[in-house]
Amino acid sequence: MTKLDLHDYVASVKDYPEAGVTFRDISPLMGNGAAYRQSINQIQEFANDLNVDLIAGPESRGFIVGSPLAYALGVGFVPARKVGKLPRKAVSASYTLEYGGVNELEIHEDAIQPGQRVLIVDDLLATGGTINATRKIIEELGGVVAGVAFIIELEALHGREKIMEAGEVPFLALMEY
Ligand code: 5GP
Repeated sequence: MTKLDLHDYVASVKDYPEAGVTFRDISPLMGNGAAYRQSINQIQEFANDLNVDLIAGPESRGFIVGSPLAYALGVGFVPARKVGKLPRKAVSASYTLEYGGVNELEIHEDAIQPGQRVLIVDDLLATGGTINATRKIIEELGGVVAGVAFIIELEALHGREKIMEAGEVPFLALMEY
C-alpha cells in the first residue's frame, strides 16, 4: 500500500484560537480512513518494541489516538480526564496551558498498577504541560512511562525537552511543524 504524506491531512488555521497562533487541525486526518489507519499503524510499530501494558491519553484528542492503538495492541486504555468527570477516587495533576490559564487532569487511582508500562499518546505536543501532568499522575500511581507518541510535534515550543527533563523516555512524533 502506498504511504501517504500525513501533512496533506493537517489543516493549518491561522490566528486560532487567538491572533498570532497557527492551529494544526487533525480533523482531516481523522476523517480519512487511510490516513487515520496509517497514523495508528506507525505508532503501533513504535509501541511494538516498548513492552507496553497500557495506553494512556489525555482528554479529548488523546482518546482518538489512544483507543484504536490500545485495540490494535490488545492492551487497555486509560483516559486522563479533565477534573471532575471521574466517578471514583482519582489522582490529579494541574498544568499551565499554552495560551494561558491552568488545567487539571485526573486518572482513577486503580487504573494503573505499580510496575505497569504505560505509553502516553496525544494528537499534538506543544509546550509539554499536558503530557507532563499525565506522566506525573502515572508515576505517582507507580506506573512506568514506556514512551510518548504524538501525531504532531510543534518544535518551536520545546515540549520534547520538557518531557526529557522529567526523565528520558522513547519519543515519537509522526510530523514536526
Ligand atoms: P501542551 O500541553 O503540550 O502545551 O498542549 C498540547 C495539548 O493542547 C494537546 O492535548 C493538544 O490536543 C492541544 N493543542 C494545543 N495546540 C494545538 C494545535 O495547534 N492543534 C491541536 N490539534 N491541538 C493542540
